[in-house]
Amino acid sequence: MSKYDVVIIGSGLSGLLCGNILSKEGKSVCILEKQHQFGGNLQTFKREGKVFDTGVHYVGGLGEGQNLHQYFKYAEIVDKLKLERLDIDAFDKISFKGKTYSFAQGFDNFVETLANDFPKEREALNNYKTQIKDICSHFPLYNLRPNLGLDNELDYFGKSVGDFLQSITPNKTLQNVLAGNNLLYAGIPNKTPVATHALITNSLIEGAYRFEDGSDQLADLLIETIKNNGGTLINSSEVRKLEMGNGKIESAILTNGEVIEANTFISTIHPSLTLAMTDSKLLRKSYRSRINDLEETMSVFATYFSFKPDSFKYLNYNYYHFNENNVWSVPNYNHDKWPQEFLFLTLPNSKSKTFAETATAMTYMSYDEVKQWEKSTIGNRGNEYEEFKKYKAEKLIDNIDKQFPGFKDSIENYYTSTPLSMKAYTGTKNGSMYGILHDSNDPLKTKISPRTKIPNLLLSGQNVNFHGVLGVTVASVFTCTEMLGMEYLLEKINNA
Ligand SMILES: Cc1cc2nc3c(=O)[nH]c(=O)nc-3n(C[C@H](O)[C@H](O)[C@H](O)COP(=O)(O)OP(=O)(O)OC[C@H]3O[C@@H](n4cnc5c(N)ncnc54)[C@H](O)[C@@H]3O)c2cc1C
Repeated sequence: MSKYDVVIIGSGLSGLLCGNILSKEGKSVCILEKQHQFGGNLQTFKREGKVFDTGVHYVGGLGEGQNLHQYFKYAEIVDKLKLERLDIDAFDKISFKGKTYSFAQGFDNFVETLANDFPKEREALNNYKTQIKDICSHFPLYNLRPNLGLDNELDYFGKSVGDFLQSITPNKTLQNVLAGNNLLYAGIPNKTPVATHALITNSLIEGAYRFEDGSDQLADLLIETIKNNGGTLINSSEVRKLEMGNGKIESAILTNGEVIEANTFISTIHPSLTLAMTDSKLLRKSYRSRINDLEETMSVFATYFSFKPDSFKYLNYNYYHFNENNVWSVPNYNHDKWPQEFLFLTLPNSKSKTFAETATAMTYMSYDEVKQWEKSTIGNRGNEYEEFKKYKAEKLIDNIDKQFPGFKDSIENYYTSTPLSMKAYTGTKNGSMYGILHDSNDPLKTKISPRTKIPNLLLSGQNVNFHGVLGVTVASVFTCTEMLGMEYLLEKINNA
């Protein structure tokens, strides 16, 4: 049995990017994935020959010269991606208190568009633009600069998005509108760091894109590069244990008993699941309890629609609707008022630019609502669970139909996913959407370092740094710099 330079646990975006980078830099890598399909949240599913995205719907930063574009250029995938740019004047529409507001691409366009709705707030909007850009400038890897520990990133983890928006304007409607796409980070105004809001908002305003025919193309392209570089990927291989020897990890043991040896191990799965794989004393009790006690982000209920042919127009924007006078639904979650909000979007397909084949709607759902079925396996949760999903989906459909009359009649079929599906497919605790919740009240507590006290165990993925395609890309690069050197890797990326 050969011994790899690196074993990577998990084949989500992080595992695949780490595999791409390290194999490109000459390391022998082996990626172990517990599911049959590679890709984690990049997985899609097909019904009636139509593609449905599960965990990635739109991304920013993919324009020429922008951060994600450069990272993907280095990864040798950027030119092969099939992208659809969202509406320049309205990539997101926020339907709040009976009116719809548009987020435009390009910062000046963004300010102008919102200033039309809030003419007295032009100065506040300009200030918002300046401050968002300033916050982002303090994140070195976001700006493709080596992270030498000299930037004061933590300051922006220690300030909440709610306080930030209040400092921008006393106008409550504008505060809510500016946070209207907070489902992208499951926001809590007095906890979510302003950094989270700023980095995500900035990248989308710079350029917002969807993946045509599905986000699994990202996984497929990365897999191809890893294989071309001589890397190995093994599916249906759940890592159960990390076996210690001589003060470091010697091998990963799979549930089928197979043993995979390597010099370095990178785990891209939830850190508490990683810690549970080893009882090494090198990981202190205090570290373990800190990680295990961290709060998770909210979970989600998603409904995937397939349309009758040529019946529902493709929408080149994302639609966030709120039934309440408050866009912060997570801290105000009320089971009796469900759904308090939803995100509705169509998936671009190469067959038609006019009509959509599929659409997705997402709204928060607390894990408690499905906990009673957690012991049974997928497909065996019984009629009551099926009835529950149907009841919820139809409520959601009625809500969407009010915003898009005729929507209901266009539906051919629909499929649902609950927090239990999220938990089963990605292994996040309680089906959490984005993993660990960053808390501005105690920023150090929720900051996870890629390094651990086990010298050859590194962490990566959405819980190290940020979630999302851009956040996870930065996290993966950060982890790989531990093996390759910060300045070396950033120079290679910038010169790609
Ligand atoms: C509903 C939803 C919508 C989203 N929409 C967007 C969006 O529009 N834009 C955006 O940028 N981001 C979006 N995100 C966030 C984004 O999808 C994630 O942050 C990102 O894909 C996480 O990548 P990852 O590699 O860290 O983790 P994952 O994708 O979760 O990958 C982890 C992998 O590890 C595997 N694994 C777990 N345990 C083991 C084990 N013991 N052994 C082997 N393998 C294991 C899992 O099966 C999985 O494949 C969304 C997320 C959700 C849930």
